[in-house]
Amino acid sequence: MKGIILKNIELDGSKVDIYISDGLFKHILPTGSIPPEDFPKEEAETIFCTHKSACPSFANMHTHSEMNLMRGAGEDMALEKWLDAIWLIEESLSSDYIYWSGKLACAEMIKTGTTLYNNHYWYVPTAHRSAHEMGVRHAMGYVLLDRMDPELTKVQKEQFLKTFERAKPWNREMAQFLVCFHSIYTVSEEMLLWGADFARKNGLRIHMHLSETETEVANCIKAHGVTPVKYLSQLGLLGKDLIAAHALHLTEEDVELLGKNKVTCVHNINSNLKIGSGYKFLYKELKAAGANICLGTDGCASSNNLDMLETMKTSAMLQKAFRGDPTAMPLNELLDTATINAAEALGFNTGKIEEGRSADMLIVDTNSCFFLSNAPFIANFVYSAHSDSITDVLCAGRFLMRNKEIPGEEEILAQSRRVLSSLKL
Ligand SMILES: [Zn+2]
Repeated sequence: MKGIILKNIELDGSKVDIYISDGLFKHILPTGSIPPEDFPKEEAETIFCTHKSACPSFANMHTHSEMNLMRGAGEDMALEKWLDAIWLIEESLSSDYIYWSGKLACAEMIKTGTTLYNNHYWYVPTAHRSAHEMGVRHAMGYVLLDRMDPELTKVQKEQFLKTFERAKPWNREMAQFLVCFHSIYTVSEEMLLWGADFARKNGLRIHMHLSETETEVANCIKAHGVTPVKYLSQLGLLGKDLIAAHALHLTEEDVELLGKNKVTCVHNINSNLKIGSGYKFLYKELKAAGANICLGTDGCASSNNLDMLETMKTSAMLQKAFRGDPTAMPLNELLDTATINAAEALGFNTGKIEEGRSADMLIVDTNSCFFLSNAPFIANFVYSAHSDSITDVLCAGRFLMRNKEIPGEEEILAQSRRVLSSLKL
């Protein structure tokens, strides 16, 4: 792959030259420095980046990307009713649908600055093919959802194992296979124990919804006498390898358990707001207890887009508002929740622009009214600008979007329009 030199780009308030080769940030030097001896500059492309800023690309740590063609399908519904509506639509899905909706989701993520996503859906080999072809880093796994039906438990175990076998040749630097459970209210105890045991024996991470609504907590207490977090703790599921989406309705003891076990908790503010699940995510408390905090958009059927910049802004605003504390979610921590915290949770060498890390980054056009102030770049990017300020996106040192153009986008739109007609909306 040809090297890239980004000349005179702003990074953390300074002008630098960034040298990229073999998919990595090789050198980051003050602008005008003598080019490094060991860099193959003759074969590299030099790009002048006046009025452009560099930012690590984002990680969407909880989404159902193929629901992007179901936008608006469950408007004005509570989660329980919404799930029934969505599951009815999902009966009509095909591999053709998954392939194109997956590509369309990747295109939307690239446009809005995401190069890593943690997906929670079915048809994994097809979804992987879409992400792989689009060049986006991803984590995904067969979602176990046996509805406490022993017949389904048996069938899904077999299907899961087949999917796991098919994922073995994946390039682990770009893609990871996970054990996914839907939730504690749709997955039997037997399946939870079996899946967690399989994950731990095979070094896989676990991804599931947890404590998303008050109803989930109340029903769990009724069925098991404890909260969902305590229930998972009793089953031995809590650990550094668990990625818990939502973790919204928690007791003090739950926070302590999630923190002590270094669980990754993924806040999905737009989905929570829209479905009316709540908004008082215990960011400060979970972080102080030791949990790893990341952000996600959830699927488009509940939050309507995959825009992480919007998610960052709303997350921080809500933390400040409900606590009456403007320091509740500072910008540097906010950026970490959308970048490095996710890289650490999934074990990818991404999330920061520094020498030796994978070259996953955004180039942002700052030649606009949104950036004309003396405030730090990240303040203007999150609170003033929008994701259409992003002009270029790189993942593993390769351009996924160049001057706002994504290769093949027109065909992706046309094919997505075609598969939409097969959807039972
Ligand atoms: Zn979800």
